[in-house]
Amino acid sequence: MRCPNCRSIDIGKIGTNQYYCWSCFVEMSIIQGKLSLHQVEEDGSLSSLDDLFEDEQLRLEN
Ligand SMILES: [Zn+2]
Repeated sequence: MRCPNCRSIDIGKIGTNQYYCWSCFVEMSIIQGKLSLHQVEEDGSLSSLDDLFEDEQLRLEN
């Protein structure tokens, strides 16, 4: 599994279907076989990064 944002493989599991990229500090959730990316803002809120990616970039590689 690679981070679609920075292509790093330095990804940690933080919960059920939830992962965190230690390289670019992006949180990833797996929803129905697709990744959903969120950036954690300084105030702790999450903003979606999904709009920055094409569908096929968010599809999980098997
Ligand atoms: Zn990353």
